[in-house]
Amino acid sequence: MTYKRKDGRKNDEFRPIKAKVGVVPNADGSAMYQSGETIAIAAVYGPRKMHPQHQQNPEKGTLRCTYNMLSFSVQDRIRPGLSRRSTEISKITEWALEPVLMLEKFPNMVVDVFINIIQADAGTRCAGINAASMALAHAGIPMKNLVSSISAGKMDKTIVLDLDKYEDSEFEEGEGSTDIPISMTPDGKITHFQLDGKINSTQLKEVIDMVQKACKEIYEIQKKALKDSIEDKEWQTNIVKH
Ligand code: ADP
Repeated sequence: MTYKRKDGRKNDEFRPIKAKVGVVPNADGSAMYQSGETIAIAAVYGPRKMHPQHQQNPEKGTLRCTYNMLSFSVQDRIRPGLSRRSTEISKITEWALEPVLMLEKFPNMVVDVFINIIQADAGTRCAGINAASMALAHAGIPMKNLVSSISAGKMDKTIVLDLDKYEDSEFEEGEGSTDIPISMTPDGKITHFQLDGKINSTQLKEVIDMVQKACKEIYEIQKKALKDSIEDKEWQTNIVKH
């Protein structure tokens, strides 16, 4: 059986993306990243002194990410507060972003990133990482690069990009569905990779190639959102001047 996507997308096509920087005025940096019906907002606070003091690291700063899926983000209301899933995704987000951050410049300090998923239709960890990466750059945290993230997977035997909720959790035909979220820098260095399911090495190579191509495009979208935010600022300054 060849799998055909319900929403008519090609196998290597991601959902429509929107990205905007500077969406939370009170934060030091912020960004929104939308992929189809999935929307993530990231807000960065810091670097600031780490409290409690015993958690301070004199060698480098700490990146602390808090991922949260809001109660109304899915059809059935989710119980608010921490869950095993949100704790896991918070950790994964830290690991995905740490390799590009120059945390050695901030000993004893903490950079807090709060990620809120306001609408969820699968791919929320990737959307959160994309939003967080832009928000950290917007906050002026020294970074070697941006991180871009998307998942690809296997629907029965067919490789597809950017699974939606139906593809991620409801599809059960043949071998069922395998979701593989991956994050990488624009030069293809993988900072995060998750795989829960079965896939052979040829198919896995196809997944990585597909993700790498998509991440390059996502990187351009992230970069454009950051540039647009600078132009927005100039525009606002002009308004004040006149
Ligand atoms: P990701 O969102 O990164 O793909 P998961 O694979 O854990 O992470 O979740 C897939 C999707 O399942 C979510 O985007 C969301 O739409 C839905 N989902 C996850 N957890 C819950 C929950 N507790 N209640 C309802 N829907 C959920």
